[in-house]
Amino acid sequence: MHINEQSRISRRGFIAAAGFSGGAAFLASRTLFAREEGIVPTMVNAAATAKITVRPLRRNIAVLEGSGGNIAVLTGPDGKLLVDAGFAVSRPQISSALVSINSDPIKRLINSHWHTDHTDGNAWLHDAGAVITAHENTLKRLSVATRVEGWSYTFPAAPQGALPVEVFTNEHRMNVNNTRIVCNYYPPAHTDCDISVYFEEADVLHVADTWWNGVYPFIDYSTGGSIDGSIRAAETNLAMATSKTIIVPGHGPVGGRADVVEFRDMLVAIRENVALLKKRGRSIDETIAAKPTAGYDEKWGQFLTTPAAFTRLVYMGV
Ligand SMILES: [Zn+2]
Repeated sequence: MHINEQSRISRRGFIAAAGFSGGAAFLASRTLFAREEGIVPTMVNAAATAKITVRPLRRNIAVLEGSGGNIAVLTGPDGKLLVDAGFAVSRPQISSALVSINSDPIKRLINSHWHTDHTDGNAWLHDAGAVITAHENTLKRLSVATRVEGWSYTFPAAPQGALPVEVFTNEHRMNVNNTRIVCNYYPPAHTDCDISVYFEEADVLHVADTWWNGVYPFIDYSTGGSIDGSIRAAETNLAMATSKTIIVPGHGPVGGRADVVEFRDMLVAIRENVALLKKRGRSIDETIAAKPTAGYDEKWGQFLTTPAAFTRLVYMGV
């Protein structure tokens, strides 16, 4: 499938891709998120019945959409390697989706960052045979109870089997299924644990939640994220990709470099608008009322992070 075709995925398809299979659940989530409560239980409930879609990308790589963040899957003689684990309640659907690709056993899992919509499935994937790799900060965050203010939720420490056993600081390379894989740490961006995973021969780049394709991103200030870090990560992604690179976002449809340019430009423009209002002494509520995102809301403001919620996230960091 061509990247352009993937970019034109329907809104309904996108909602499913991000783990919200029904319109009602989607609307309920938005309302809850606007009040900044209940988003985590809502995400988990949606993931329990979420339909998982297998989208072949290039060579032996596919992406599974539908349970939390996008899951990349590399197959071959060394067994399956996954980037991200989705929600544990989606195990039956994810298992079926993996078997539908081929019978290779599950051998490896890389966590793109610590957030529950990317790591909740760690325990069952570990039980199924996966050795878990992640940035050292992902191990730190998962090892203790961790609060995300933006979700009004405190996650308990993960069980032992869910913890990464192979951790790194800046860069980690592996050779799996005749594919060179490079994991690179971003300085704090969406969280302080974010890594990119690049599959060299296939020219496929998974960029964690440093990119949300087509929607305003969530930024987790509680665990080291910021708007400026998010902009820096978008620049890093542009430096790593060419026009031929297939880029897998944390949320939303798979796309390419031009889509990341548009995302970066949106972040920069809204940051400027919000910073100007804050500099003039506007309070956070006055800034939201001034609608600094207005020119972007039709395209980017239709998902969980509402225009008001995103304005708040930017205001906190300028
Ligand atoms: Zn995240």
